[in-house]
Amino acid sequence: MAEKKVAVVTGTSSGIGLHTAVGLARAGVQVVATMRDTGMAGPLLAEAAGQGVEIAVRGLDVTDRAGAVRCLDEVAEEYGPVGILVNNAGQCIAGTLEELDDAALQHMLDVNYLGVAALTRHVLPSMREAGAGRIVTVSSNGAAHGEPFLDAYCGSKFAVEGLMQSLAPVAARFGVAVSVVEPAFTATKMTENMDFSRVFGPDDPYNGLAENFARHANGLMAQAQPAAEAAAVVVEAAMTDSPRFRWQTSEAARELVGLSISDLDGGNVISAMSTWLD
Ligand code: NAP
Repeated sequence: MAEKKVAVVTGTSSGIGLHTAVGLARAGVQVVATMRDTGMAGPLLAEAAGQGVEIAVRGLDVTDRAGAVRCLDEVAEEYGPVGILVNNAGQCIAGTLEELDDAALQHMLDVNYLGVAALTRHVLPSMREAGAGRIVTVSSNGAAHGEPFLDAYCGSKFAVEGLMQSLAPVAARFGVAVSVVEPAFTATKMTENMDFSRVFGPDDPYNGLAENFARHANGLMAQAQPAAEAAAVVVEAAMTDSPRFRWQTSEAARELVGLSISDLDGGNVISAMSTWLD
């Protein structure tokens, strides 16, 4: 029997990551689900048990770079080389630039960009040597267009897509497919916890705008996609025989990404850039 592929998924204590881990296990992959605090694994393990699959759990904080790569090494030692890396872990700090200090901007980059870069760099050598591998990063519609009061978050998501899009044609030459998955509003802890009123004091000049935006965001939340549905697209991006660069998880995401980008599956850019390598 062929050995199972090994997948590492980050940020699996909740939301899209939790359902991605279970979905990959259902697809026959050996999943190592990682999270900052393994004491939070209850909902993941309950979902896995309900779906009749087993999942290994390991501690991994993407901002602890040394600990994160140590975890990847331990996974490779125990299960074999990582064939699929799903960079799902993410955070969102709200606010317009005047309200975002350097620490907030740096934190968004640490979690959503630098952590992703470090993990990806660490698994690339073994994937390259194997001539196969999948790097799937959960980015956002906010990686394709800016969103009011999400300046730091969108900046970090633009950054991670730029990194991945640059890497994709080069990694493809070694059999490694690089993809980004762009959900729009999805019903998870991240969106539940978004409270724009918390960011602004009573005399803040941005209050009116923030209230309007919060009203708009709440309207979108009412139609939010279930996390399991968004995760199914992440699983497809990781497992498909026809990998592509860019995936949206819903019609709403396609509409939003399409405001800024006409190359919805990323094929045009990757093909054009690939010719620069010949
Ligand atoms: P979520 O339920 O809050 O999940 C985020 C996960 O990331 C949590 O499990 C969280 O774990 C983990 N995490 C946070 N900081 C981490 C760190 N430093 N190291 C490791 N794990 C960390 O929200 P979600 O919506 O499923 O988010 C998943 C991805 O989807 C994110 O990249 C997000 O940007 C993206 N996304 C979400 C939406 C949306 O509307 N929900 C839209 C577009 C894109 P803890 O339990 O430790 O906090």
